[in-house]
Amino acid sequence: MPSIGQKADYVRSETRKPAGNHHCHWPGCDRKVHPAVWGCKQHWYMLPPRLRGKIWVNFEPGQEVAKNPKTNYIETAREVREWIYENYPETRPRPQLEYDL
Ligand SMILES: [Zn+2]
Repeated sequence: MPSIGQKADYVRSETRKPAGNHHCHWPGCDRKVHPAVWGCKQHWYMLPPRLRGKIWVNFEPGQEVAKNPKTNYIETAREVREWIYENYPETRPRPQLEYDL
């Protein structure tokens, strides 16, 4: 299990490569970021340190290549999304209204 420092080094070196077609995980943000990171700088630092720490703990270097994140990472990503919806309600997906005319 790599330490968080080792993971940070990994992410730093990975992010020098092109982002490809991966987007920031903040709902509605379409900034492209490297798959090794959760999101763009602006949104990453809007998350509370507790959640950023949790992402670091559960992130496994290489998961973004193999596309096989562990369950605890997926759960963390979900928790982060819930936190965002809770604290920034404007990011919530708007329900599709269907009119039955
Ligand atoms: Zn973003």
